[in-house]
Amino acid sequence: VSVAALSLYRPVWEQGEQRLAGHDEDVLTLAVAAAWPLAERHEVRRVVVVTPSPDVLEGFGVGVIARALDLGREATVELRVGGAPALVDALLEDRPGSLVVGIDLAAGAAAAAAAYLADGSGLEVTAAGRVNGSLPMRVRQVGDDHTAVYGDGRVERELATVPLVTELRGEGEPCLVGVAPGEARRLKARAVPLPTQGPAAVLFALAALAREDGAGAVRLVAVDAGSAVAADVLRAEVDVLTDERPGVPAGERPVVSQPVEVPFSMPAYARAFDAKIGLVAATCSCGEVSYPPRQLCLNCGRDRDTSPTPLARTGEIYTCVKVHVPIPGIAGPYGLAIVALDGSPVRVLAQVADAGGREAAIGERGRLVLRRVALREGVPDYGYAFQSEIGLVDEGVPA
Ligand SMILES: [Zn+2]
Repeated sequence: VSVAALSLYRPVWEQGEQRLAGHDEDVLTLAVAAAWPLAERHEVRRVVVVTPSPDVLEGFGVGVIARALDLGREATVELRVGGAPALVDALLEDRPGSLVVGIDLAAGAAAAAAAYLADGSGLEVTAAGRVNGSLPMRVRQVGDDHTAVYGDGRVERELATVPLVTELRGEGEPCLVGVAPGEARRLKARAVPLPTQGPAAVLFALAALAREDGAGAVRLVAVDAGSAVAADVLRAEVDVLTDERPGVPAGERPVVSQPVEVPFSMPAYARAFDAKIGLVAATCSCGEVSYPPRQLCLNCGRDRDTSPTPLARTGEIYTCVKVHVPIPGIAGPYGLAIVALDGSPVRVLAQVADAGGREAAIGERGRLVLRRVALREGVPDYGYAFQSEIGLVDEGVPA
C-alpha cells in the first residue's frame, strides 16, 4: 500500500510564522477541510482522524465527518488520540481505500492534512523501528487550557528526543517530526519546514519529501512524549493538493463581544442534521429543488414526492452584507452572503468565513466549507460558511 495523494490545509489567521484556528474551526472542521479534496476525488472506505486535542471525541463527531465527506454507508470513521507517531502507525496499517487525517491544534498553531492510501503508485512507507516509551513531557497546569513543556526544553531533549532519535535515525539525514525546528537542526536532521509538531506535520513532511529530488528511501522519525516510530519513505510521484491562502492578521478574527447562552433544540438539530451537514436538497418529481428540503412542494403541491439531491459546494455570491451591530452570542463583525450554487437553482444563506476586515462582493466565487457556526448551550452546531477563492493556491503538484 502506498500514499497515493496528500491534502494540506492551514487556516488563514496569521500570527508571526504561525497560523491559528478561526473562532469557527475545531478538530472536526479541520478534519473535513483537509479530507474533502481527497474524498471528492477518491473512493473512501475508511477514515482515521488522529489528534492530540480530543475535544470532540464523543461519538457525534463520527456522524459529522461521515456526512460532511459524503461517505457511503459502509465506510467507517475512527477518532484517535495521539501525536505524530500515532499518525505514522495509521499509515503503516496498510489499508487501501483509507483516508488518514492528522489534526494539530495545540499551542495555538493549527494545521490539518490528509493522506489517501491505495494499491499501486505513490509514496511507499514501510516500518523501520519503534520505541514505546512514556515521559510526561507535556503538562497541564490547573486552570490552564493549554499544555506546556515540562520544566525546560533541555530535559525533554536529553531524556526523550536524543535517545529516541539516536536509536532510530539509521544512516544519513532523517526527517524528524515532533521536535522543534532548532532541535531538528541540532540533531542533524533534514531541513524540512513544518507548520506544527503533531500528527498533521507527518503528512506535511511527506509532501515535502515528495517534492525533493533524489532517489532512495528517506528515514522519517516521528517523536512524541518518549515514544517514537520510524518509517522509510520511498520517494515517488504523488498528488499534493494544497489549500493555502494569503494570511489574514489573527487580530481580525471575529469575537463574541456579548457572551450569552443561545438556546438549543435537540429535536430541531436531529431533523436538520443530514440535509445540513451533507448539504443535500430535495427535488420534487415536478423538478422543483428545495433547500432546506421541503416535504410539501411549493411549486406543484405534491406531498413527500421528493428525492435527495446533493448540492455542489462551489458557487458565487448573489448578494451580501456585512453585519457590524454586535449580536449577543455571535462572533462579529461578520459577513452574510446569499450564495448561488453551481449547477443548481438553489441559493443558500451562509456566513462569510475567513474574511477579517475585508468585505465580500457580489459575484465573488468560492465554496461552502464546514464550520462550527455556533455554540448553543455548549453544543457545537455545524453548518456551511462561504469561503472566497481569492488568493487560493490549490494545485496538484507532481513530485
Ligand atoms: Zn413539485
